[in-house]
Amino acid sequence: MSDCLFCKIAAGEIPSNKVYEDESVLAFRDINPQAPVHILVIPKAHAADSAAQITAENSAVVARCFEVIAKVAAQEGLKDGFRVITNSGAAAGQTVPHLHFHILAGADMSDKLV
Ligand code: 5GP
Ligand code: ZN
Repeated sequence: MSDCLFCKIAAGEIPSNKVYEDESVLAFRDINPQAPVHILVIPKAHAADSAAQITAENSAVVARCFEVIAKVAAQEGLKDGFRVITNSGAAAGQTVPHLHFHILAGADMSDKLV
């Protein structure tokens, strides 16, 4: 999608601090980190706006994103644990309508929302 921020990041039109990239998935550091480690994992293609649009037709890239989440967690040395979040819709706090997964780590989250 031409005016989508994460499509532009995936295309390299907007710079990002990349931690992993392959043909279908990109992982990069969040510009406004909510934990000492805060990484976003996105399908490079605009497969869906959010988790609400995941279907049998586009879910393969979701599995790929989770493979990358495991790789990035190992690469970043997140041996004490990490949290994966996806916000779906404005009421859930989603601000960028391109499917993405937050990896959060480095803070004690055992007391928080979930
Ligand atoms: P959401 O609020 O949609 O779940 O997550 C969007 C995330 O994208 C936010 O955590 C926000 O800080 C991050 N973000 C917004 N614009 C940029 C940007 O230009 N570069 C990077 N690296 N992260 C961004
Ligand atoms: Zn997009």
